Amino acid sequence: MMTEQTRLVTYSRNVFIPVTNMCRNHCGYCGFRRDPDDPQAYIIHPDRVTEILQRGAGSGCTEALFTFGERPEEDDRYLERLKAIGYDRTLDYLLDLCRMAINAGLLPHCNPGVQSYEELALLKPFNASMGLMLETTARLQVHDNSPGKIPQKRIENIAHAGKLKIPFTTGLLVGIGETRADRVDSLRTIAGLHQQYGHIQEVIIQNFTPKPGTIMATHEPPSFEEMLWTVEQARDILPDDVAVQVPPNLISPGVLIKHGASDLGGISPETIDHINPEHTWPDVEELKQTTGKDTMLRERLPIYPKYILDGWFSVELRSLIHQLADGEGYRKTNEDLHRI
Ligand code: SF4
Repeated sequence: MMTEQTRLVTYSRNVFIPVTNMCRNHCGYCGFRRDPDDPQAYIIHPDRVTEILQRGAGSGCTEALFTFGERPEEDDRYLERLKAIGYDRTLDYLLDLCRMAINAGLLPHCNPGVQSYEELALLKPFNASMGLMLETTARLQVHDNSPGKIPQKRIENIAHAGKLKIPFTTGLLVGIGETRADRVDSLRTIAGLHQQYGHIQEVIIQNFTPKPGTIMATHEPPSFEEMLWTVEQARDILPDDVAVQVPPNLISPGVLIKHGASDLGGISPETIDHINPEHTWPDVEELKQTTGKDTMLRERLPIYPKYILDGWFSVELRSLIHQLADGEGYRKTNEDLHRI
């Protein structure tokens, strides 16, 4: 039972599906990206996606999180590989993967990198929500070889999503060379976008973690105090209806929850975090140990309750959302409601 002092913290249960690790960008901290001629480069095969979706549905997941390298089709070698599985455009492949997820009973949430308004409009009916990390509004050296990380392009993408009424996830990547003032500016930018369009459901405050073999391999990650400061700023600056999310596989959330974090993002019982594969997901039972007695953990869908109640979803998703959501817009099972 909730009291006035109880903090409600949400999470979703997902499967993490990395569609391709090829990417036009070369971010200085990225351990995920591969060149098309790298033996570890891939486009995930539909059969593999089917298998992941079936496992996710079997273990009660509600979200199919599709992640990407950004605009890999700018390289012909990627396009050849895409053609080999029957597609000329990544967008068409992604739309089919979304349909597969819906048929398997999971709600798609795509993070395909910077998209045009028209591309987002095509994806919207098949996505419960979508995401694009703003990361920062500052021009940073680590993004010198990443055309998709020009802040204005990402701000435009988030605005396009707002115009299309797509429930949206964005966030900051902390510790990549930005200053505290940059973080405040980034948060104010996101707050302004939400005030204009009302579509930002959550803002991830993600700590940079160094990856072997990258330019930033020996760069110090942000301290816990720096993360705490940023979470506090986020809670102060963002409108109250925007959740502040921290990733519980990258940082212990207990203290951050006391200072404004209210969401833990996707926690997968079936798949690893392919962007941070060295950081395993905690399970919900483990989180009970770190979040405190005055915290209630509740499962949500990839679309936040208020957007369900306000009908921000397509006819294509209607029956699945009604099947999965309870009357308040959370995941429809009492066993997922934990008093900690
Ligand atoms: S856009 Fe993403 S996948 Fe591409 S290099 Fe940057 S962090 Fe890596």
